[in-house]
Amino acid sequence: MQRLPGKARSRQEVLRECEAEVAKMRGYIPRVLWDFLIPDLSRAFRWRVQLDCGCTTEVLTREDGTPPHEAQWKDHRSPLPPGQMTCHHDDSPPPPYRVIAEWGDRREVTFPADPIEPSDDTDPRVWSVLRRDEPHTSAFWEVTLACGHVEEAIAPSLDWVPASGPRRAAPERVQQMSAEFEDAWRANPELQTERDREHTRRMLADGWPAPEPERLCYSCPRVRMILAYERVGWLVPRQRQSRKATSTTPTPSRSALERRLRKAESEAERLRAELDRIDQGPLRPD
Ligand SMILES: [Zn+2]
Ligand SMILES: [Zn+2]
Repeated sequence: MQRLPGKARSRQEVLRECEAEVAKMRGYIPRVLWDFLIPDLSRAFRWRVQLDCGCTTEVLTREDGTPPHEAQWKDHRSPLPPGQMTCHHDDSPPPPYRVIAEWGDRREVTFPADPIEPSDDTDPRVWSVLRRDEPHTSAFWEVTLACGHVEEAIAPSLDWVPASGPRRAAPERVQQMSAEFEDAWRANPELQTERDREHTRRMLADGWPAPEPERLCYSCPRVRMILAYERVGWLVPRQRQSRKATSTTPTPSRSALERRLRKAESEAERLRAELDRIDQGPLRPD
């Protein structure tokens, strides 16, 4: 078994944290969903993992059969490719653009009309152009990027499907936009970062497609590879679990069972006698 540098955290401390988390979840998850959404801590197994950023951290899996580099971890709600986990670093690079490799599920979201007054940081003239005065609905598609991470893309219209391919602007319009962007970048070199300027250039060269064939990947900068792992143990020791199981469902002794049987037989006898009285009594039907 592999040993990683450093030591596992105190089990009691981790258990306390997990119990507090479960109590919090019970507060906002309806009771009927507890079995599905709230982890059973008595089945949780602890591991230490070493990541390629140099960090060593602790994780929990359900049961102890799947080592952490084979388990599927999540970035927010999106599943990550096996072997990857997130680790936050303040100096992570900004998200890169990645090509969309696959279109997945679709959902519609309805937005209310925008407020008439712009927010404090928006120019009223810009707001008068951007503002939507009616509620509107957009279609969001789940997309898997070339790096294997999952993001969302907005369709250009509700009836758009991936098989339709992107819509493109008229070539004259694209030419005009290219000239406008070049002017704007010259006038204000800070207008877009190098990354965004390159993205804009690619989109212009591609005829300004909608939806864009690439998205920013917010997972890439925070995702790390699991390099090594170490087994720590059950979050709730197995011994205590089985002791608890025997104390709640004790196996009755033979004499106790015989006592219960005799009691049940005499009760059955009493009920039979009562039934006989009813059958012979004045309230007997028909
Ligand atoms: Zn790290
Ligand atoms: Zn990515």
